[in-house]
Amino acid sequence: MKSRFGVICGTFLITILALAVGFSGNPADAAEAEKPILCQGNYHSEEAAKKQLAKFKQSYSNLAEWKARAGRIREGILRGAELLPLPEKTPLNPLVHSKREYETYTVENAAFESFGGVFVTGSLYRPITGKGPFPAVLCPHGHFGSPQNYGRFRPDQQKRCATLAKMGAVVFSYDMVGWGDWKNAGFSHRIPKVLKLQLWNSIRAVDFLLSLGNIDPKRIGVTGCSGGGTQSFMLTAVDERIAISVPTVMVSAHFFGGCNCESGMPIHKSAAHETNNAEIAALAAPRPQMLISCGKDWTKNTPDVEYPYIRNVYRLYGAENLIENAHFADEGHDYGLSKRTAAYKFLAKHLGLTLNAVKKPDGSFDESFVVIEKQEDMYAFDNAHPRPKNAVKPDAKKLPWD
Ligand code: ZN
Repeated sequence: MKSRFGVICGTFLITILALAVGFSGNPADAAEAEKPILCQGNYHSEEAAKKQLAKFKQSYSNLAEWKARAGRIREGILRGAELLPLPEKTPLNPLVHSKREYETYTVENAAFESFGGVFVTGSLYRPITGKGPFPAVLCPHGHFGSPQNYGRFRPDQQKRCATLAKMGAVVFSYDMVGWGDWKNAGFSHRIPKVLKLQLWNSIRAVDFLLSLGNIDPKRIGVTGCSGGGTQSFMLTAVDERIAISVPTVMVSAHFFGGCNCESGMPIHKSAAHETNNAEIAALAAPRPQMLISCGKDWTKNTPDVEYPYIRNVYRLYGAENLIENAHFADEGHDYGLSKRTAAYKFLAKHLGLTLNAVKKPDGSFDESFVVIEKQEDMYAFDNAHPRPKNAVKPDAKKLPWD
């Protein structure tokens, strides 16, 4: 209701603004005067979402028409996120240190600059064996904020990253803005352009992975759950370098994400485009994608609503075999072992990872080798590795993403 009220208010304001500036009737002036339209949270009812997808589906009937629509949506996302044109790619100046060597994988603390003076921080997991070039997987973490279950430090995230490393992938698990090292430096998640900053950070995280050397540029994947799921399908939609994606418990036609980092900028709707998160996930086609969904959140309809819509797009490419849905009807909003197991199988199949490395003789999965590290050992910046002198401060008058 709130959002619709916002749209009505927006329309009213456009009229007032147009009158105030002496609106000439020129469509360019109208576009100029248009207020951003935000689709946030439960913007649609479930029924309205189904109708919207049916309407979208009628707007194309072959691959060429879909590609034209996909191009408009991709452009609408980037324009809405103020990333059109993309900002200049400044030097990454990566910092990687404090390597811990375990039996089958290593972990290092890492940072790179996404804009000059803006540091994206995280944990870099690598396999002990293998010659490369290695496949790589980005792991954004989502809004998990309890002290025992916090961001990239939480046990299930550490298990996922270490397990993928043991299977043969280089993995980067990176802080959302305002979390982990960002929080230590005084940054909040509640900044107006957090969506823009996080999407750009994800694009630069691909650059960071490639900068490590010995990475196969054709085998880069992304997977995350909840807000990390949003980051996964958004990055996949706008960055062709992502070859495979596993957005978990987030792709929904009726729920647009409740946080500003997911829907606080006008990426879903403008004068030139209208879409929802199910269709944004369809922009991954024909690249392999697994939708992981569950019965107890906004992905409960995925097998009957979002998955068929997205599969139809893959069908246009002749690639129906590359889209899968793993649905857990009795489960809730998390990236628990059953969901991780589905992701491991899918990622192994399409990235050429060694599934047997983490399987027990009875076929079940074994993550018992993973050493759960302490949060304070995983920071990119600490007393021994202070934040660089050029690092921007949260109270700076002009921030690089504004
Ligand atoms: Zn957020």
